[in-house]
Amino acid sequence: MENSKQMRTWLDDMKLDHPLVIAGPCSAETEEQVLKIAHQLKDTDVNYYRAGIWKPRTRPGMFEGVGALGLKWLQKVKAETGMKTCTEVANAAHVKLAIEHDVDLLWIGARSTVSPFIMQEIADALGETDKIVLVKNPVNPDLALWLGGIERLKTAGVKNLGAIHRGFSTYEKSKYRNIPEWQLAIEFQNKFPDLPLINDPSHITGNRDMIFDVSQTALDLNFDGLMIETHFDPDNAWSDAAQQVTPEKLIQIMRDLKIRKESDPEAAYNSELSNLRAQIDVIDSQLIETLGKRMKISDGIGALKKQKNVAVLQSNRWNQILGAMILEGEYKGLSEEFILKMFKAIHQESINHQEKIINS
Ligand code: PEP
Ligand code: MN
Repeated sequence: MENSKQMRTWLDDMKLDHPLVIAGPCSAETEEQVLKIAHQLKDTDVNYYRAGIWKPRTRPGMFEGVGALGLKWLQKVKAETGMKTCTEVANAAHVKLAIEHDVDLLWIGARSTVSPFIMQEIADALGETDKIVLVKNPVNPDLALWLGGIERLKTAGVKNLGAIHRGFSTYEKSKYRNIPEWQLAIEFQNKFPDLPLINDPSHITGNRDMIFDVSQTALDLNFDGLMIETHFDPDNAWSDAAQQVTPEKLIQIMRDLKIRKESDPEAAYNSELSNLRAQIDVIDSQLIETLGKRMKISDGIGALKKQKNVAVLQSNRWNQILGAMILEGEYKGLSEEFILKMFKAIHQESINHQEKIINS
């Protein structure tokens, strides 16, 4: 795969002609289950075989993984199929055991990335390892925790790093199990442009029917690979049953995904692209200009309210504006969600301006 990264990484060294694929069950359940799925995946484009051994579960009493015993099963996978293996580690003891059992790639789960204490413990245990280590984003949409986790591992001397975007938990109702918040993953990419970034559509969607679409979006956003939970009998999996796909379905998904290039040298394409981008730049400046004008008017309203000692927030007026703008947006093909977000931000800025004026 060509990529725009400046530094060569472990992923370039693999010289793949397709995005990296990590697949296998959410959890190792039995030796037979682990080996059966591995044999079903061994002659496909799958590059690493995953299976969770230690499962951090939200509440005790659920299946919490088979523990270190599963590492022997992963060793067998390697011996019988030649596949490289990976598993999640969540403390220093896990790191030690996984390395002793030749696990090739370790990932740090979302529930560990939220805890700087755990991240430091794992970083110290990994030290200057050559193993590939991938850091999942934290459960909550906090970019700094994700970056901090990577920095701790870098500082400890881990050489082959990468990240996994698995979405973020939210209080709001959503069709996703963990909302993608793509802009956070993009910001992460901007902060660490040389780190391979893998998408995990299984934990984002929580639903096997949505995995293809999220995977395609990730590839369109230049992600370097995918981690997809795979099980021969998803409905009866011991964890995350709704989101696992069968090996056949995984192969179908990989076949159907469109892998887009980052760029194309053709001149006509490039001149058309620059032309469109120039138009976007002009419109972006106009947007700023217009928003600036709107704020000036809002400042005038603030001055008037100050004279009459009237409160800044007028809910009726605000609801009217929103209703009208959602309708207008619909005509222009803009989603309600977008209009709401944009006007909430504009409104907040207006309130801040008026607050300043009223209290001046
Ligand atoms: C997993 O990959 O099985 C897992 C537990 O993921 P996350 O840490 O993203 O919840
Ligand atoms: Mn899972």
